[in-house]
Amino acid sequence: MTTAAQKQPAAGTEPLGHRQMIVDGRQVDAAAGARIEMLCPSDGEVFATIPRGGQEDVEKAVAAARRAFDEGPWPRMPPAERGRILMKLSALVAEHHEELSQLDARDVGKTIKSARGDVTVLSRYYEFYAGAADKTGGATIPLGNGFTAMTFREPHGVVGAIIPWNSPTQMTGRTSAPALAMGNTMVIKAAEDACLSALRIAELALEAGVPPGVLNVVTGIGEEAGAALSAHRDVDFITFTGSPEVGTLVQKAAADHHAAVTMELGGKSPQIFFADADLEAAIPVITNAIIVNSGQTCVAGSRLLVEESAWDNVVAAFAAKFNSLVTGPHDGDFDFGALINAKQQGRVLRFIERAKTNGIPILAEGKIAPEASPAGFFVPPVIFGPVPTDSELGREEVFGPVLSMIPFKDEAEAIRIANGTDYGLGAGVWTKDGGPALRVAHAVRSGQVYINAFGAGGGVELPFGGFKKSGHGREKGLEALHDFSTTKTIIINHG
Ligand code: NAD
Repeated sequence: MTTAAQKQPAAGTEPLGHRQMIVDGRQVDAAAGARIEMLCPSDGEVFATIPRGGQEDVEKAVAAARRAFDEGPWPRMPPAERGRILMKLSALVAEHHEELSQLDARDVGKTIKSARGDVTVLSRYYEFYAGAADKTGGATIPLGNGFTAMTFREPHGVVGAIIPWNSPTQMTGRTSAPALAMGNTMVIKAAEDACLSALRIAELALEAGVPPGVLNVVTGIGEEAGAALSAHRDVDFITFTGSPEVGTLVQKAAADHHAAVTMELGGKSPQIFFADADLEAAIPVITNAIIVNSGQTCVAGSRLLVEESAWDNVVAAFAAKFNSLVTGPHDGDFDFGALINAKQQGRVLRFIERAKTNGIPILAEGKIAPEASPAGFFVPPVIFGPVPTDSELGREEVFGPVLSMIPFKDEAEAIRIANGTDYGLGAGVWTKDGGPALRVAHAVRSGQVYINAFGAGGGVELPFGGFKKSGHGREKGLEALHDFSTTKTIIINHG
């Protein structure tokens, strides 16, 4: 066992060796001693190992978080003081910006440019919630008759966060910044496919002054460490980001001990493009919304709904764009990187094969860079269209760089198609006319709707979450402070 203050080397091209979990302020291995090999998606090579934490490790981490909550200074400290520590963490993240970016790019396979953007957002998470920590007052309630009643926002206690691999930095910040600002303590179960930056962030948190036991990070397989965390009776609140299927399992486990949950699940987000929209302005934004992180984002704009009269023009413009896109290794200057692993690559390629077999036309296809390793998990970007709305490609989340183009006749049909999947996470509406823009934005059942835009540089300030199968509860923005706390009402009878 070593102390977490001991620095671990940054990412580069050399193997990183072994990284440890952070439990109760210390770097530790799994109790059983088991390890997981981390593959770099760009070449399929093992470049690090992490502990394969299990039940016993989760027990220790939850016990540390429980102690830190029940006996430690964190929930008792003036909120402004918690804010100061989180602000210091934000500054430390900024100081270690390049190190964290390199780590994430290598771990996830995303381009270094994209990883740098994620780390900027991470720093912003801690900054935003640092400033909000002391601004979460309650209300007074007019009871009369000699009573005074008032409400307070109180932390839940121990928060368990189960996060995915697609943006470990953003996911760590999105969950821990508001949870810690409200005075909770935490155990994060980071994803087995990419989690090195989450471990590093927990070390930086200790350096910033977050007390030991307040932010613990356990690594391990979902069915082992994840299941143990969601079933743990000392976990008071769970935030889960991942697939709807695993979300169901986590909710069932949480229900057994009545822990409240936030679920951030998948999406099949539509971009609704009317004929009058500014095509030139839309092309880079709509393209980025499906290729960023190789399409492995929950809020990927994976359906492009186009008004029939503009179909030919829009197809030609996007075909030209997609035919010029190149995917390649994370450290090169490419449009996007590899997928996370061979399983995800195979899954996406099978979606593409089935769509072809079912006769859905391919409108464009980008390239894999010639210098990319054949052992990397690359999939070139592809556009299919017209995609039948009731087909697999029209309804299911692919989680890869695959855009489905679908024509619509009028506003009513656009809304029907947009709402015609089980999901409701994000949407974009593209038109110069304010009437349809707002009507469609109101009619689409989705947690966020952008008009002539998609994404807002991380959107830390903007409440985020799903309708329908995309989940429930909200993260980001001031609303996250509400979800990561609960209401206490104090009533005084003063006669
Ligand atoms: P996943 O559900 O397989 O894994 C997510 C996390 O859950 C990982 O940490 C994993 O170890 C853990 N897990 C797996 N099985 C578990 C179990 N039985 N009990 C407890 N934990 C378990 O998802 P994924 O493949 O990592 O990510 C892809 C999915 O996540 C997509 O559907 C995507 O849309 C969604 N996602 C959603 C958001 C959002 O904010 N809405 C963000 C990113 C990804």
